[in-house]
Amino acid sequence: MINSRLKKLTPQFKNILKISSKIAKKSGYNIYLVGGVVRDLLLNRPVFDLDIVVEGDAILFVKRLAGCLGQSFRKHHSFGTATLYHDNHKIDFATARQEKYQHHGALPKVQPSCLEKDLARRDFSINAMAISLNKESYGQLIDFYGGRRDLKNGLIRILYPESFLDDSLRILRALRFEQRFSFRIEAKTFLLMEKAIKSGALKFVHSHRLRNELILFLNEPKPYKYIKRLYSLENLNFIDESIKLNKKDFRFFIRAESALKFYKKKFKENNEIKSWLVYLAGILLHLSDEKYLEVVNRFGFRKDQRDTISSIKKNLGKIRKLDYKKKNSEIYKILKNYSPEALVFFYAYFPKKNLRKNIRLFLEVLSQQKLKVKGKDLKKIGIQSSSFMGEILKELFYRKLDKGLEAKGEELREAKEVIQNKQSLKR
Ligand code: ATP
Repeated sequence: MINSRLKKLTPQFKNILKISSKIAKKSGYNIYLVGGVVRDLLLNRPVFDLDIVVEGDAILFVKRLAGCLGQSFRKHHSFGTATLYHDNHKIDFATARQEKYQHHGALPKVQPSCLEKDLARRDFSINAMAISLNKESYGQLIDFYGGRRDLKNGLIRILYPESFLDDSLRILRALRFEQRFSFRIEAKTFLLMEKAIKSGALKFVHSHRLRNELILFLNEPKPYKYIKRLYSLENLNFIDESIKLNKKDFRFFIRAESALKFYKKKFKENNEIKSWLVYLAGILLHLSDEKYLEVVNRFGFRKDQRDTISSIKKNLGKIRKLDYKKKNSEIYKILKNYSPEALVFFYAYFPKKNLRKNIRLFLEVLSQQKLKVKGKDLKKIGIQSSSFMGEILKELFYRKLDKGLEAKGEELREAKEVIQNKQSLKR
């Protein structure tokens, strides 16, 4: 069965695996596909990136492989890892290693090792399987910790009792996989997880790792399920203890999903919209300004991301006023400075008919408009000063929105009227 799954990989992936297998044999190394890729292959889910463990020097191995493929690669000496890229996909190679935690939450001491120990340091049994890529056993599943059985039974199970204390990020990962696959967290694992949560273990995880995980889970389909689950277990204390979510917030998370769907469908070319930011803004909405600043700084969110959330928090009152009939130019002036994430947030946050209509009008029509008349056209009719030209173009643009001007001739006629008005006001 695994061989048939391997066959489903892209031809490029298959080719790289075959060549890797040959190079491994020549080098006297063993190599294995490991972790989430194996889980996803067994679940028959699409695979985008590959993770390969090398019993041997991974960097040397990739150097040889890249030479064969005529490709470049990136190496990370301190981690003993190297990455090959092809198209938009990544293939990570790592030297098999074992980890020892001196105390809970500390960075582990790492040393080269064998596959079995490499798999033993992983988070859950379903993520601790490997597939041999070695010539004699190509395609054979290696499952020391009952991962396949747990996968069949839909269970998330840690590999040893202190797992959540050694690396408490695993608490969030467990919940992410539970929600993504609709699995259950195995009973003992769940008790240990609850215990770790109660002891405040998440506080010891580096804030940037927490941020990356937060982004991952808020980018999953249906994040409201995850937020709800996490809130019921941990109250989102790892973000801030003063976060309080109510029914209205949860209704927002549900509406945010359809708002994002609408946006992505309409604006396919702008699919890089950060869904997670919309949800995060919803989570941080009721924090005091002081707490909010502390949280975004601690997590190290980028300036543009912080700006989006701040603009949402500050302007809810202003946006609420959009629930009335307004001139197109007024709608434009109010909405033009917000990021797509903020606009989607407002659309989801206010289930008011007129307000939503206005935001849609802005997204679908007004924000797409461009003047056909340019500065050089105004020069031809005698406008020299660039600041005056700017004033005219701005006013002309608003009139275009309000009057629905289409043809360049119409715009030019309107421009002359704008010039006359402005000049008579100046006199
Ligand atoms: P996803 O489908 O979300 O990418 P993944 O399991 O492939 O899930 P990665 O974060 O890419 O997730 O990790 C790859 C593998 O590394 C995991 O499958 C797991 O074996 C191991 N791993 C990742 N994070 C941890 C962790 N915190 N503790 C132990 N093992 C981990």
